[in-house]
Amino acid sequence: MLRFIALSGTISVTENLYVYEADGQMMVLDCGVGFPDLEMHGVDLVIPDFSYIVKNKEKLAGIVVSQGHEDHIGAIPFLLKEIETEIWAAPLVTGFLKDKLDEFGIKNYKINTFQPESAQFEVGPFRIQPFRVSHSVPDSCGFAIDTPEGRVFHVPEHKFDQKPADGRPFDLDRAKMLAGQKKVLFLASDCLGANKPGFTEGEAKIEDNMEGLMKNAPYAVFATAISSNIGRFQQMINIAHRLNRKVVLVGRSIQKKIEIAYDLGYIKIPHNIIITYHDSQRFKRNELFYIVSGCYGQVGSSLYRISLGEHDRVEVAEGDVLVFSADPAPPYSKESQDFVIDNLIDKGVDVHYYDLHEGLDEGIYVSGHGGQGDIVGLFKIVKPHYFIPIGGEIRYMKSYLDLAIDFGANPADIFRLKPGESVVFENGNAYLGERVMTKQVLVHGLGIGDVGKVVLGDRAVLGNEGVVVVVFKVSKGKKLAANPEIISRGFVFEKVNKELLSQAERRLSEQVKKKGKFDKASLHELGMNYLSNFFFQKTGRRPMILLVVVEV
Ligand SMILES: [Zn+2]
Repeated sequence: MLRFIALSGTISVTENLYVYEADGQMMVLDCGVGFPDLEMHGVDLVIPDFSYIVKNKEKLAGIVVSQGHEDHIGAIPFLLKEIETEIWAAPLVTGFLKDKLDEFGIKNYKINTFQPESAQFEVGPFRIQPFRVSHSVPDSCGFAIDTPEGRVFHVPEHKFDQKPADGRPFDLDRAKMLAGQKKVLFLASDCLGANKPGFTEGEAKIEDNMEGLMKNAPYAVFATAISSNIGRFQQMINIAHRLNRKVVLVGRSIQKKIEIAYDLGYIKIPHNIIITYHDSQRFKRNELFYIVSGCYGQVGSSLYRISLGEHDRVEVAEGDVLVFSADPAPPYSKESQDFVIDNLIDKGVDVHYYDLHEGLDEGIYVSGHGGQGDIVGLFKIVKPHYFIPIGGEIRYMKSYLDLAIDFGANPADIFRLKPGESVVFENGNAYLGERVMTKQVLVHGLGIGDVGKVVLGDRAVLGNEGVVVVVFKVSKGKKLAANPEIISRGFVFEKVNKELLSQAERRLSEQVKKKGKFDKASLHELGMNYLSNFFFQKTGRRPMILLVVVEV
């Protein structure tokens, strides 16, 4: 028997985590983070619910990682805080992961690095053979996994681009060889591009297109992409080299990732082309090419600060050229990206960005995900009996289902799983298994999972309405010792609304005196009711009210 659990990673693009179970053991495939939605005030990250894995940790044989994007590796440090296990990853993924684990101060771990061209390894009862796929980060893999019920294919994200910018294309020969050896039980693969016709365009042309925009730039050139997009940085460095510009890397994430990729041989950098901020001062603006992090306009990122003129070492000037090689892919990133773009345009920068520039698609970005051609192309190679769409929202899972049916699949053989749902494979049959109950785990600062509905609800009120604090001074004889004191934050501007607050103090005091004797609970109730009505009548707002009773 084989059980596949979509613990996390379906009905959304991020937070990938799948569990394979057989012979009383289990294997985790990918362990990534998600991003908070707009209601999750202050939350840094969302991670999968590990309860099921922790509960069954004696059965866990290891974690296999498909690629170096945060939504596939980012939650590993959080899981390793709770359990000990081994990890399998390709060389660049190992490099990114080690850096991440160092950052978290995690020292006790074991990573087995595999070569996607040739590796075969065993994780519990599963025998795994990776193969290289094209994606927007080098060393991304799909896997042929031999299970007690047969061979399955798990391909989290792929496109068939045969000339990717990182120079390491989809390994068609190996994928075909692995698929041809045995009948394939099921394919779990990326559905995000299932409503996009055709194949995702190749990356090679991006280099020419970017160079075309930069070659006549009179002053400084800037470019940005997601910090793991090593192939795009290779193209930018190639351009800088041809245009005879020195490269300045701005932002720790880009510096770190390029350094790791360079050490492992994933990016070629001409001698002396990368210079420090300090050295850049010896060059004229038209001799410089800045590669900057913050392509989604993330608050506090280098590009965000540059766009506001708040970066301490780098500034843009009128006539500079800036190329965004990124679309607003992560959820809720469009607004922040647009904010940065508008600020830059306002400063006179010639900005080329994801949607339209003077009505033209400038071809400066392509998705890392495959379109319909890539998805069906994989069906043709793998020819699975069963299909499981992963890594995309419900509407893309539906489009994937349509593609599979067009391909000839029986609708009953396509499993669209919600987080925690599972499929059991037994003697060639497949049926829905037991669902594992999961919830979203929110990370804020050092706290993991301590922010939930209640805290978020309070944050929403505080953020939208503000807070009013009332201090009652009560004597031993259960009488008010003084008028209540009211202070507020985020509710009204106190300097202007002094009268409103002192009126509230006087009226509340009268109400309490009218009541005569009181205990703590009744004082609390009276204060709450009276003030929330009073403030709503006067302002139309419902601030959070906190009452403090002090005995004097
Ligand atoms: Zn990815």
